[in-house]
Amino acid sequence: MRKPIIVGNWKMNKTCKETVEFINAVDGELNDTCTYGVAVPFTALKDATATAKNLIIAAENCHFEESGAYTGEVSIPMLKELGVTHCIVGHSERRQMFAETDETVNKKVRKLIENDITPIMCVGETLEEFEAGATETKVRKQVAEGLKDMCPKCVAKMVIAYEPIWAIGTGKSATKEIAESSCAIVRDEVRKLYGDEAAESIRIQYGGSVKPENIKEYMAMEDIDGALIGGASLKVDSFKAIVEATK
Ligand code: PGA
Repeated sequence: MRKPIIVGNWKMNKTCKETVEFINAVDGELNDTCTYGVAVPFTALKDATATAKNLIIAAENCHFEESGAYTGEVSIPMLKELGVTHCIVGHSERRQMFAETDETVNKKVRKLIENDITPIMCVGETLEEFEAGATETKVRKQVAEGLKDMCPKCVAKMVIAYEPIWAIGTGKSATKEIAESSCAIVRDEVRKLYGDEAAESIRIQYGGSVKPENIKEYMAMEDIDGALIGGASLKVDSFKAIVEATK
């Protein structure tokens, strides 16, 4: 049985003080049916891991090299030192605005696994690709390239978030059928590449305008094992309502 995983992606929001206040308000309200977490800005990671007892704390990005002349970057050992257990990789905002490629995503994923941090690897198509019926081709390619040269046991431990770009921050969430169909494609590609055990163990999230009112319908789908949530994860009330809806 796969335990669902629900992670808030705060993006470039919240100071250290706001992070601590948020975590103190929600950390005691969680239940055991899902793994709950938040991905917070680098600057707030230390306070977040020191405050959270139940929430898992994720970084929103990392560099694949351990150290070196990469001004402004943060390495995986640096994250590990802070007690970070999960890290988002290849979010569409990083692919679109910060030149992230399938190749760098793959390097990061492999390095994270080596360091025992769980990658949350994001994939998803643009609106043009969706309208052209190219979702399956795009998603299969991103999964295959992002998971290149790995072992099945490593892939089994991962999380993949299917996030159609047209649904992110737009309020236009994918229907549960569309979300399920793409998550099933992700799982099928994992099965093709790494076999049944990896495909049955890997957790696949849907992301894109998930909120307390619609999370239940996604979670009821066979191949959806949780959600990656932006806007609706920023407010305590809304996060608590998401936890309540997934009990
Ligand atoms: P959203 O963002 O929930 O605000 O659409 C999702 C994401 O970017 O992960």
